Amino acid sequence: MGTTRRARKALLLLLTWILCVCGGIDAIQGDRATASASPPPLSDRTRAAVTEFGSSWQSPAEAEPSFTSGQQLNKKKKRSRAEAMSWVTLQRMFPGSFVIWGPRGSRRVALTFDDVPDPRFTPQVLETLARYKVRATFFVVGSRAAAHPALVQRISREGHIIGNHSYDHAVFSRISRYAFEQQIVRTDRIIRPLIGYSPKFIRPPYGEITPYQVDWLRSRGYIVVNWDTDSVDWKSLDSNRILINIKRTLQPGSIILQHAGGGEGQDLSGTIAALPRLIQLLRSKGYQIVTLPELLNRPAGRNRRSR
Ligand SMILES: [Zn+2]
Repeated sequence: MGTTRRARKALLLLLTWILCVCGGIDAIQGDRATASASPPPLSDRTRAAVTEFGSSWQSPAEAEPSFTSGQQLNKKKKRSRAEAMSWVTLQRMFPGSFVIWGPRGSRRVALTFDDVPDPRFTPQVLETLARYKVRATFFVVGSRAAAHPALVQRISREGHIIGNHSYDHAVFSRISRYAFEQQIVRTDRIIRPLIGYSPKFIRPPYGEITPYQVDWLRSRGYIVVNWDTDSVDWKSLDSNRILINIKRTLQPGSIILQHAGGGEGQDLSGTIAALPRLIQLLRSKGYQIVTLPELLNRPAGRNRRSR
């Protein structure tokens, strides 16, 4: 009897061991799959952002719940890494035409503000920049420019650079070739007469873009500019959190992402409160704040009248 019991116990231990080993292998294979997979069509960050922007930017079908559980946060970390890898790969594939940072050799950084114009927030950002004599780069959404043309003109008149941020904040990696081209061309037609040049710099909404699309833009004289320093201010964060986020990856050549416009219910008062502190912080660390044309040594526009 004792022998049978011992044999059963040994068998049970063996089975448990086999299950553990197989589980481990599955987990490793899962990791490998994540690491070797091509970049996800839409990152978690993007999904969260799409949700945050709500119905004013995307159809409700696009919206997904935000990610909060530990397991989901782990996934988010892995995805963020994959995403960063894919941007670095794109930067290598399209040197000078897909950019996430400028030259690391000198202490210069560029402030970029997306989703403008927005009468709720853009004028306040402009006032702060004027007070501190800082020039920045603003990425304009075509449909918003059509609604508030005077504000686009004001941004340009006050010495800032304008870039193209799509017509209606579509996720480029999810739309057809024709729809993608229309997002660029339509916005260009709205912006050009307002500021006198066709913006050379393109920022894809959520940073999402395919290699084909980068190549299409490159062949037409555009430069795609994402970022290496994300303030994550679209989450309506307070100014302390925004500054912490920026400091995390800030270095010479950094392109800093902030917003001066947003979706319904989005509050950028943290961005506005953080801005004077950010400018002072950068200057105290010896950084010169420049526009994208200055940082990248490329013109702001694709036509002759560009500065
Ligand atoms: Zn945007």
